[in-house]
Order: sequence, then C-alpha cells, then structure tokens
Amino acid sequence: MENLPKPLPYYATAQGRDPSPLKKEMRQWCQAPLAHSDAGKMPALQGRHHATAQGVTGGDVVTIYDKLSFLEWRITKRGLEMAIKKVFVVGAGLMGGGITQVAATAGYEVTMRDISQEALDKSMETIEWSVNKFASKGKITEDVARQAIANIEPTTEMADAADADLVVEAVFENLKLKQEVFKELDGIVMEDTVIATNTSAISVTTIASATGRPDRVVGTHFFSPVPMMKLCELIRGLETSDETLAAMEEFARSIGKETVTVEKDVAGFLANRIGLTATVEAINLVASGVATPQDVDKAMRLGFGHAMGPCETADLTGIDILMHACEAIYDETRNEKYWPPELMRRMVTAGLKGRKTKKGFYDYSSGKQEPYWTL
Ligand code: NAD
Repeated sequence: MENLPKPLPYYATAQGRDPSPLKKEMRQWCQAPLAHSDAGKMPALQGRHHATAQGVTGGDVVTIYDKLSFLEWRITKRGLEMAIKKVFVVGAGLMGGGITQVAATAGYEVTMRDISQEALDKSMETIEWSVNKFASKGKITEDVARQAIANIEPTTEMADAADADLVVEAVFENLKLKQEVFKELDGIVMEDTVIATNTSAISVTTIASATGRPDRVVGTHFFSPVPMMKLCELIRGLETSDETLAAMEEFARSIGKETVTVEKDVAGFLANRIGLTATVEAINLVASGVATPQDVDKAMRLGFGHAMGPCETADLTGIDILMHACEAIYDETRNEKYWPPELMRRMVTAGLKGRKTKKGFYDYSSGKQEPYWTL
C-alpha cells in the first residue's frame, strides 16, 4: 500500500452522488496496479471511498460495489474497469435497433434479440448504414464504426441474456407482452442485473410487478431516432432503488445521452405528457379543416422555434405508436385531452402510420417529405 498515491477524498464525492468524478478519482488512485497483498487490504480502501470489497478472485481482481452509485468496478492488473459490459436489448425494431447502435458505438458488447429473424436482419442493415453515415460525416472514426458493428450479436434466443449486466426492453407497446418478457427475463438474468423498459407510456411499476426484482427495474425512455436525439428520460417506478437510477444515469451518459429524472411513475412521463396534448390538438385542427398539416407544422416551427412540427413528428414516430401512447395515458388519467381523435384512429386502420408506411400526414414515397393532405 505504501507505493500507492495519497488517498483522494472519495467520500465527499460519493456523498454528492455524482458517480463521474468518483470514477475519475478512482482511476487516478488505481493507476498503480494492485498486487495480491494490496488486494487483501481492500477493507482499508473501503473506508475511504465508501465502497464494499465484494471478493478477491484469482489473487489480483477485486470487485468494488459502490453502495451510493451502485456501480461495480473491477480493479485488475490493467487498471479500473466498469462492470457494465454486456448489454442485452430485447426488440430489434426502430428503438431497439437505435439503442443497440448507440451502446455498441460507445464500446459495449450488445446482444440484440428479436423473435423475428427478418426484424434482426433489417435492423443490422439499418445500423450498418447509420454508423457508416456517422463515419462518413467525420462524427466517428472508421475504426469505431467497424468496431460498433463487431460489438453487436443478433439473436432470436432470450436465453442469451444470461450473462448480461444490463437489459433494455424495447418490444411492442403492449402491457401483457412486456410483462411476459420481464417475467421470462427475471428467470434468466443474473441476480444483480438491471432490467430497463423503453416503454413510452405504460407504468414502469406495473411492468416491474411481473418480476421478483422491482428495485432493479427502471424506465429508460429514449427518443427517436435514438442515435440523433440527446434525451433519455429516466423513470423511477414505485420501488426502483436510488442505486438502479444512478447506474442508469451513468449508463445513459456513457452512451452520450442527457437525462432527466421522472421521480414519479406517471403515465406519459414528462415529454409525452406535454407533447401528446399538442399532437392531439394538431390532429383535431387538421381534422376539422382549420389548417393543413404543413401549416400546423410551420406554425410550431416558426412561431415557437420547434425543430419539427407535431404532424411531421407524428409521422416520424409512427401514428400507431402515438395512438397507443395516448390510449395508455387516457386509461390512467381519464383525461379527455389524451383521447386519440377519430382521424388518428382511421389513419392507423388505413395503414397511414407515417414514414414507416411511406404515408401519414405527408407522403414519403419519393424519398422526400411531400404534402399529402388537402383540405
Ligand atoms: P417496433 O414495432 O419498431 O419494434 C418492436 C419489435 O419488437 C419488433 O421488431 C418485434 O418483432 C419485436 N418483438 C415483439 N415481441 C418480442 C419478444 N417477445 N421478444 C423480442 N422482440 C419482440 O417498435 P418501436 O417503435 O421500436 O417501439 C418499441 C418500444 O419503444 C415501445 O414500447 C414504444 O412505445 C417505445 N418507444 C417508441 C418510440 C418511437 O418513436 N417509435 C419512442 C420512444 C419509445
């Protein structure tokens, strides 16, 4: 221990509950590799940074479990390593593919699971196209792009989640399906594994109730397209622990996202709760012939400085996805402002779901966003 640098004030940093500076300081401390005899003295280290030595394996590997940030750090001869390495994403659709891409680009090993091989193939194609585009624009290097693809393992087997440190679920927005997925995962993943749901509007607490680990279940609401959108809402279910939230905040930051914490598991969380009222009102105005989708969008872009108007946003997200989100908030709140307008329902029935079906409020068949609706 004599050769190690002077101890740093971990305790104060840890109390501030910001794991990032803690990480930096621990890194500095661990620059000197620990020898076996040093590892044996871990309880002394414990007092200084408020962490618990979990065990010594193979003589020189120590896992520190930090009670405040919930992060596990492994001190090895190579230095300090973060414990979340393997991420398992369930659902290879628009969101699952995006989450897989950003995690793989950040260096995580990601297994992406879908029940459909076709969905997996399509998602891999999209991810390859997208990372290559980031590389061609100079946002990431060619090497990072290549490595990102190499970091992804597509699978149809849920059992491959067994060694995951973190699971992010992004299957269809359906409570029964999500609960089935969570129940199955609960029986497969390790005891400590955090299971996150990317639900848009279903209660995290209700999804978590299908597991025996509600404290390790959290909402991570990413926005579409995931590689471009900076926000990830973190939702605390009724029993989500501080540690789980802190771990997810660290994970979200590590993949380049900014977070907001939704402290209560209310339907629609923050952004949708506000945004969907604008979507519903915009559709009502189009339906009643007050204005075209083009003018509704222009008003919000130029009048309020929004990057996109509500109709084009609905097309990008998927009219069906938004309709289900409205229904879920309405079911919880019985507030009529979330009731999906008739036009929205008819568009979904007619297959006008937005960009993914080439038509919604606009026509995308030419590859560009063209007007589709006339009054
Ligand atoms: P999507 O329809 O594009 O993809 C869902 C995928 O889940 C499909 O590929 C389907 O085959 C797969 N799937 C179904 N059951 C499965 C199972 N048991 N195991 C593995 N895969 C299964 O949906 P999406 O738009 O990616 O949405 C996924 C989730 O993210 C939903 O909860 C949605 O509400 C939420 N979300 C969507 C958006 C958005 O803009 N689309 C934004 C935020 C959150």
